[in-house]
Amino acid sequence: MTPPIAADASSLPPGALEAVRRHWGYSSLRPLQAEAIAAELAQRDSVVVMPTGGGKSLCYQVPPLVSGRLTVVVSPLIALMNDQVAGLGLVGYPAAALHSHVEPEEAADIRRRAASGELRLLFVAPERLLTEPFLAFLRGLKALAVGGIAIDEAHCISQWGHDLRPEYRRLAELRHRFPGVALHAYTATATPRVREDIAAQLALRDPAVLVGRFDRPNLTYRVVPRVRPTEQIERALRRHEGSAAIVYCISRRDTESVADSLRNLPGSRSIEARAYHAGMTPDQRARVQARFKAERLNVVVATVAFGMGIDRGDVRCVVHAAMPKSIEHYQQETGRAGRDGLAAECVLLTSAADGARWRRLLERSAAESGATPESLRAQADLLAHMQRFASAARCRHAALSEYFGQAYARPADAAPASGCGACDVCLGELAPVADATVLAQKVLSCVARVRGGFGAAHIADVLRGRATRRITQRGHHELSTFGLLRGARREAVLAYIEQLIDLGALERDEGEQGRYPTLRLNAASLEVLRGQRGVSLVEPKPAQGLPAERHGPPNARREDALAGLSAEERALFESLRVLRRQIAEERAVPPFMIFADTTLIDLARARPADRAALVQIRGVGQAKLAAFGQRFIDHIRSAGAPEPPPPVREEAPRSWAL
Ligand code: ADP
Ligand code: ZN
Repeated sequence: MTPPIAADASSLPPGALEAVRRHWGYSSLRPLQAEAIAAELAQRDSVVVMPTGGGKSLCYQVPPLVSGRLTVVVSPLIALMNDQVAGLGLVGYPAAALHSHVEPEEAADIRRRAASGELRLLFVAPERLLTEPFLAFLRGLKALAVGGIAIDEAHCISQWGHDLRPEYRRLAELRHRFPGVALHAYTATATPRVREDIAAQLALRDPAVLVGRFDRPNLTYRVVPRVRPTEQIERALRRHEGSAAIVYCISRRDTESVADSLRNLPGSRSIEARAYHAGMTPDQRARVQARFKAERLNVVVATVAFGMGIDRGDVRCVVHAAMPKSIEHYQQETGRAGRDGLAAECVLLTSAADGARWRRLLERSAAESGATPESLRAQADLLAHMQRFASAARCRHAALSEYFGQAYARPADAAPASGCGACDVCLGELAPVADATVLAQKVLSCVARVRGGFGAAHIADVLRGRATRRITQRGHHELSTFGLLRGARREAVLAYIEQLIDLGALERDEGEQGRYPTLRLNAASLEVLRGQRGVSLVEPKPAQGLPAERHGPPNARREDALAGLSAEERALFESLRVLRRQIAEERAVPPFMIFADTTLIDLARARPADRAALVQIRGVGQAKLAAFGQRFIDHIRSAGAPEPPPPVREEAPRSWAL
């Protein structure tokens, strides 16, 4: 694949920034947005990879405003399309969506608006884009009317990704159907392999490859062994009382039982949580989703089915009640926390049982769908990476960044020697294992005794003294290391192995095609075995599992922006939220579409007294100013006389973006 070539950001016409200011009220672009916009304007193919919340939509929304042409956006979910169209409506942007829920009359009207050149964005479902009538319609548009085709959630085209969608596979036809039209792929989760696959499937020509930073510095990650799940989930949610949170489970039944047990907590501890999964009726699902978006429900317990269409930016906590089946899923689901750039927490509860459960589910669904052995292997591979992430005791930020092919760079303002300052490992929440070197010697000598060719799971079984068939067949129950760690939990032994690999005291050979990765010793292992080198291992602090009190922000950079507000500002912010909810209800849109929390925080601080001052606030564009700006001004006025000018504050950090 072509090496990454950044389009020249300085080639961006001034009209682009002007449009961003006018419609969205943002005074600057985030990293890579300028390059992505420039590529679209130059009608050059592109692959844009940014984390969730990074600001992908703006990249395909701005070019049509400048070029006056239409961009067709392929999007996988109706809810996602409708939200975008509604949100764009609020900023005065001409956009529409065509999908199976649009009445024929309305669809005819939308086609007319596209043909007359009024529309700038047209969202379509992938299966509709390639139908004859739609193709004919697009061909019938005036020459040059279509500026490009943007493919949102483009990883859905790749079997190496985590969300292959058959209807996306057909997008491979786009190139020869529209040879002259530039294609732009957008995704949040792409390992280099997926990225290359996207470019290959879509037959992109010399694409601008723009890859953002995957690290989300405002998220604090914790990985905790699952002991008493309800209690552990409750504690995590308590730390974010009154804020939005999502709890992810593996199965539909789990979502119901977790939601039930949270609601059934005794007395005032009861948490109003609702399940959400694909087995519910569309009506039931829509209700939960609508209440969540409208801020009338804060805790949703869901399978992966929930979230893709959710733009609520103020999710403060994402709990995984069990391990997800890939790091891609983990990144995407945790990515729903803190999209507004303010601090948020992600808690992963794991048990070795989760991996086995996923393997069964994968095999079953592969058998049902007739998946190729190759794709089953790809899934198993993704799962193995997730397991390693969960059992290693490495900085979570670093591990995630590196998984996505990026060296981790500590935030410049992180406290010295505190690592990332935002994960359980770096925050010192893990306890040292007693006699770690002896323990390591037991593990390493077991690897030596089996004479290579075995993976972590097998070694753990031998050490724990489990006489499985695999073990007895090979005579491994007769090894001197058999049962050396009898009584240890399986996940604990797997965690020791991961840590030894991380420390360089053990090596893992990735299996050739279709073979399992195996462990082998290296020079450092021999030093440990001979007692020439000590190692330290860690494990989660037992008993307390999760600290009950709210974790203080580790450094100013991640400080909760609300914590920086005075009591008065805080009260004004809360009352602005009420006003926002009112306006949202009147307009039948979710509150976050009216203004983001970050905008309300800025309003509470700056107390703009007139329109000129209001439009200076980030997130206030012309259309919103005209539609409900006065109501915010009146509200702020009536909320009391402005204070003396506040001291100059640093702008709230948004560097999480990229
Ligand atoms: P993604 O699609 O990558 O998950 P979005 O496009 O939904 O992310 O953007 C996330 C949030 O960031 C949105 O609220 C969006 O309005 C905001 N945003 C995007 N670009 C900018 C910018 N240049 N300045 C300020 N906010 C921005
Ligand atoms: Zn860390």
